[in-house]
Amino acid sequence: MELYSTNDPSSRVSFQEAVFTALPKDNGLYLPVSVEPLPQEFWRKLPESNLRQISIDVTEHLLAGEIPMADLARIVATAIDFPAPLVRLARVEGAPQNYVLELTHGPSAAFKDFGARFMSGVMGYFLKQRGERLIILVATSGDTGGAVAAGFHGSDNIDVVILYPKGRVSNIQEAQLTTLSNNVTALRVDGSFDDCQRLVKQAFLDGDLRARAHISSANSINIARLIPQSFYYIDAYRQWLADGNTAPPVFSVPSGNFGNLTAGVLAEAMGLPVARFVAATNANDTVVGYANTGEYTPKTSVATLSNAMDVGSPSNYVRLSTLLGSTWNGFRERVYAASFTDEETEAEMRLGFRQNPPYVFDPHTAVGSLALHRYQRQERATGGIVLGTAHAAKFLDDVERILGTEVGLPPQLQGLLDKPQTYEDIGVDYAALKRHILEVHAARRG
Ligand SMILES: *Cc1c(COP(=O)(O)O)cnc(C)c1O
Repeated sequence: MELYSTNDPSSRVSFQEAVFTALPKDNGLYLPVSVEPLPQEFWRKLPESNLRQISIDVTEHLLAGEIPMADLARIVATAIDFPAPLVRLARVEGAPQNYVLELTHGPSAAFKDFGARFMSGVMGYFLKQRGERLIILVATSGDTGGAVAAGFHGSDNIDVVILYPKGRVSNIQEAQLTTLSNNVTALRVDGSFDDCQRLVKQAFLDGDLRARAHISSANSINIARLIPQSFYYIDAYRQWLADGNTAPPVFSVPSGNFGNLTAGVLAEAMGLPVARFVAATNANDTVVGYANTGEYTPKTSVATLSNAMDVGSPSNYVRLSTLLGSTWNGFRERVYAASFTDEETEAEMRLGFRQNPPYVFDPHTAVGSLALHRYQRQERATGGIVLGTAHAAKFLDDVERILGTEVGLPPQLQGLLDKPQTYEDIGVDYAALKRHILEVHAARRG
C-alpha cells in the first residue's frame, strides 16, 4: 500500500512510514494512492466467511508486500479475537427491519478496540524487525485511552503513558486506564482534557526528551486505526445477507472525528454494497452544516451527553471528502447527515428500552438510531444498520438516570471496579511528565 498526503498528491510513503509518522509534515492526512475492489472470489465466498477471515483477507488485499502474509494473518487473528454481532432491533411501526452492529465486545467495550489492537500488532511487528522500542503518549477524555491501554497492554516493545483529566472521566473509564500496570501507566492531570493534550504536545516539542527516548502518539488519524474499521462493515453485510436481506443496507454511523464513517467509505471502495451512509452527530454538527449548505465551517466543540462525539473540527473530514470526490454533490450523494439534541437522544434511549425486545442504547448509538429513522422518513424507507459504538455500561450513571433502571456490566468490565488502581498525580506539571517518561524509558532498557 502506497500512501500520499492529501496536501501533496504527488508525495509517496510506505505503510510503515505512515504508521510511525501518523501525520505528514505538510499537515495533510495519509490516504492510499489507490484502493482496489476485493476480488470476485472474495465476495462469492463471503457467506461462508467470518469476521476473523474477512479481516485477514482484507488486510492481505491492502497490505500485501508490506508485511509477509503469515505475519499479517497472525497479527490480525490476535487483534480481532472477539465478535461483532448484527442484532435485530424491534420492528417500529412503519419502518423497515433495522439492526445494531455491536462493536462493543472487545476489551474496552467500544469500537475503538478494533483500531487500537490492530495498530498495536502492526507497530509491535515493525519495531521488532527494527530492534527498537517505543513509548506511546496518549491524552484521553475517556474512550480512546481505554482502548489504547487495553490494545497495547502486554506488548513487549511498546510502553504506554496515558494522561487523563482528574474527575472528568467516568469511574469505569478511570478503572480501564489505571488497573493494567506493567507496560501501561496512567498520569492524573489536575486540569482539563485540553491541559492533557497540551502536556503531550510539549513532550513532542522537547528536543532533549526526543533525543533520549523514542516517543510516538496513538493518534486517531493513524492509518493503522482506520484500516481495521473497514473489516466489520463487510462482516455486517455478511450477517445482513444471512438474515435474508438482499438490497444493500444503509449504514448509520455515530460520528465525531469521522474515522468510523471514513472506514465505511473505504469498505465501499473495496466493493461493499452500501445504499447510503448516514452521518449521525450530536450538537457538534459541522459536517451536517456542510451537507446542508456546501459551506464547511469548523466550530469549537460543545459538551453533550454523547461526549466521544464532541468534535467541532473533525480530523478525518479531509479524508472523507477526498475519498468521495471532494465535491458537495458527490458528498451528498453518498452521505446523509443529521444532528440531534441531548433531549432527543434521551428520548430515543427510553424508546429503545420500551420496545419488545428492549434495546439498551448508549447515548452515542442512540444518536445513530435517531439519524437512521430520520433518513428513512425523509429519504428512503430501506433497511439499515446502526453502528453500536459503545456498550451502555460505559456511561452507567447517565444511562441508569435516563432509563431509571440498573444496567448490567458486560463480562469484560465485570470486576474492573474492584481492582487496585495505580496512577501518579502530576498536577499540570510538564517536568513531572518528562521525569515519568524518562523513568519508563530507563526501566525498560535496564
Ligand atoms: C470515538 C467514538 C465515536 C466517534 O467516532 P469517530 O470515528 O471519531 O467519528 C462514537 N462513539 C463512541 C462511543 C466513540 O468512542
